[in-house]
Amino acid sequence: MTQDTPRLNAFPIFMRVEGETVVIVGDGEEALAKARLLGQSSATLRIVSSTPEQALRDWMLSHGAIHVAEPYEPEHLAGAVLVFAATGDEELDRRICGDARASGIPANAVDRPDLCDFFTPALVNRAPLAVAIGTEGTGPVLAQMVRARIDRMLSPSLGPLAALANSLRDAAERMVPRGSPRRRFWNEFFTGAPARAMEAGDAATAHRAASDLLARTTAPRGHIALVGAGPGAEDLLTLRAQRLLMEADVIVFDALVPEALVAMGRRDAERLPVGKRKGCHSKSQTEINALLVELGRDGKRVVRLKSGDPLVFGRAGEEMAALRDARISYEIVPGVTAAFAAAADLELPLTLRGVSSSMVFTTGHDLKGGTLPDWAKLAISGATVAVYMGRSVAADVAARLIEAGLSPDTAVAVVENASLPNRRRFHGTLADLPSLEDRTDLTGPVMTIIGDAVAGANLELSRPLATHRLVATAEPQETDA
Ligand code: SAH
Repeated sequence: MTQDTPRLNAFPIFMRVEGETVVIVGDGEEALAKARLLGQSSATLRIVSSTPEQALRDWMLSHGAIHVAEPYEPEHLAGAVLVFAATGDEELDRRICGDARASGIPANAVDRPDLCDFFTPALVNRAPLAVAIGTEGTGPVLAQMVRARIDRMLSPSLGPLAALANSLRDAAERMVPRGSPRRRFWNEFFTGAPARAMEAGDAATAHRAASDLLARTTAPRGHIALVGAGPGAEDLLTLRAQRLLMEADVIVFDALVPEALVAMGRRDAERLPVGKRKGCHSKSQTEINALLVELGRDGKRVVRLKSGDPLVFGRAGEEMAALRDARISYEIVPGVTAAFAAAADLELPLTLRGVSSSMVFTTGHDLKGGTLPDWAKLAISGATVAVYMGRSVAADVAARLIEAGLSPDTAVAVVENASLPNRRRFHGTLADLPSLEDRTDLTGPVMTIIGDAVAGANLELSRPLATHRLVATAEPQETDA
């Protein structure tokens, strides 16, 4: 509103008249017009009329107004909240308004703005919705014209729709968080399915649609995507993973996931590192499970970003179980697991016709016990073995496999930082494998692949593993970049 806009001399308000008495004094058409107008409210009408015209008499009868069939007396105004003087007699109207004012009751005299404490608006009635049009008593024609236009604009179903909204207000306030979720709820209510059903005259369906909407808005819509980030290279991320990252409210990521991949998420997404790398401060798996459940309950769209594939040594099993228990929806997005990235970097066929037709994903950590796990037998029968997290147990893996009957000459390939520009590739034999444990220069994640199929790799791409053991300090660091 600019400073030049003229100010209103009469300020519109909506007055509570339910259970209150409104008095109209008069016998003729003006009194009837006011009776009709006020008859749209739930006020009790007391009509003081000693000689009512027929139309007014009929109206009073059919609308249950209280008829005081006496000449006007000030007592007739007792207890009223509003008074209308509609006698057509200026002197009498002035007296009535004076009496009302003396008792503290606002008064209105028909066609005499100077006597009025308030004006009655032209009304578009879609109870409980009302549009009141005021002209400060100066232009009934203008008011009626505007009224007619607004009347055409507003569907008759707005009334029942507003009534339905009123009946839901408490529930919405209890169940839908204030602010934008509540605004969205009401917006959807007044423009979506409930409004459409009411418009079609189907109140029952409108009611159901409104309840559905309330349930949908209040049910925690949190969703967790357990997403494989791949081995590290940004362009090995799947398109699905990328889309989910763009839609995420929160990204919960492991230490192995490179910063560049985390940065690919929605700009405003909250980013929560949960560690899980040796020597780093990290959350326990139980804490991570609890965090995911909490975020889901808060209605957040979460991307739980894990290196490689989430279902390969990703502890996704525990996270899925926690989410299932908490009835939080989730999905799995596969990723390129480290073994595949390492194999690609070495041009190493993981299955090789006539040499290897099966493959083992293992950690090697289960080789520490007294009994040999089943996969060792598979290795002996020719399976290609991918060892995750195997650097610190390299010597154990080698010793136990040789002890179990695998030749010390079995080919072995090792890739640090597979798929990344700073990757390093090595090849050797099972007998060379223990040297991995002493290599403090290997600071990135390391994938070890064992088996005859390794012989099919392009060994020109890699350096001998054994040289390190022999000339540990002399070897220059390989950079493939
Ligand atoms: N879910 C992951 C594995 C997590 S366990 C996946 O499917 O790849 C972590 C181990 O994965 C590391 O110790 C290492 O053995 C391996 N790893 C992960 N990223 C790697 C990479 N870029 N290069 C080599 N090995 C990797």
